[in-house]
Amino acid sequence: MNTQLKNQTIQIDGSQGEGGGQILRTALSLSMLTGIPFELVNIRAGRKKPGLMRQHLVCVQASQRISNAIVEGAELHSQKLYFQPQQVQTGKYDFQIGSAGSTILVLQTLLPALMMQNEASQITIHGGTHNPMAPTADFIEHCFLPTIQQLGIQVDFECKQAGFFPIGAGQISVTIHPWTEKQKFSVLNKGKLLEINAFAAALNIQPNIADRELDVLKKKLNLTQCKRLNFQGISQGNTAFVVLNYEHHQQVFSALGEMKKSAEKVAHDLAKNVQSYLSIDAVGDEYLADQLLLPLALGQGGEFTAQVISEHTKTQADMIQKFLDCEIGFELIHKMYKVNVKI
Ligand code: ATP
Repeated sequence: MNTQLKNQTIQIDGSQGEGGGQILRTALSLSMLTGIPFELVNIRAGRKKPGLMRQHLVCVQASQRISNAIVEGAELHSQKLYFQPQQVQTGKYDFQIGSAGSTILVLQTLLPALMMQNEASQITIHGGTHNPMAPTADFIEHCFLPTIQQLGIQVDFECKQAGFFPIGAGQISVTIHPWTEKQKFSVLNKGKLLEINAFAAALNIQPNIADRELDVLKKKLNLTQCKRLNFQGISQGNTAFVVLNYEHHQQVFSALGEMKKSAEKVAHDLAKNVQSYLSIDAVGDEYLADQLLLPLALGQGGEFTAQVISEHTKTQADMIQKFLDCEIGFELIHKMYKVNVKI
């Protein structure tokens, strides 16, 4: 490392806040965007198995590839990483996670740097598309992307093959367009509820699992429509999700089938999450809240209300403020939070 870059390098302690993989992914995204190198120690120190897991390693490798970065410590289980990006290159890329690791988290790592370029990029990622503790392909398609589209960000997304743990073998194909017109985002109120739609899919397992979930969702929620989806893919798994369509926002809640958990219980827990969201006025759920901070900080800033501010969201805010000149605030008002991103 030369001395000038060493002085510029941002030092990050991966054990801060939540101490999870998001610290690494956000550091990669922002380093590629700003050109500022970083040194990250104690990677995922807050997790039972610390260090780089496959999904995290692929995030590093994919970021290295699109930004031609100089990297040290990119190995499985590594707890220390140095990353020095060069120029970000748009183009056509194909990334293999080689396990059921989340394709969506790899996409979210690359998206900020690629959407800020002058040309579009086409990305295919192979791995998991429906992972626990990560956004599902359905959440991305029906909630995250429609929301950031309001900021002017254009991404065409297709889940070509679903991939469930442990086989994975899912595939997403994405075109990321240049972000030409940045819109300010101000959605404090989700407006009138227009529709509630429920979907379920059972891939290479008994299809009646999806039907049983839809039966429970029908009983518990005042659905406009419900539908069994036919996923393609070679892995086995099940998901159910609910899309809530409001005048000013579209929110998704999703659930995954689990061993030793009945389809009825999966749907019951999903309905409970939906009911708790229906009972308050907040726009974003816990997960959308942390995922919206970075697009807002890269655009014109903005504000929205959120159901919960998790440790994950606070850690994400700290990370963003390390790299970018912006102010992210959370204010508790009437049992929900107002999130404000000032640039
Ligand atoms: P680890 O923390 O073990 O390193 P990780 O790298 O997979 O795990 P986290 O740091 O926990 O990831 O980040 C997970 C991301 O997935 C967050 O942005 C969070 O909002 C999102 N997420 C988790 N569960 C859901 C869900 N049910 N719906 C939508 N998004 C989700």
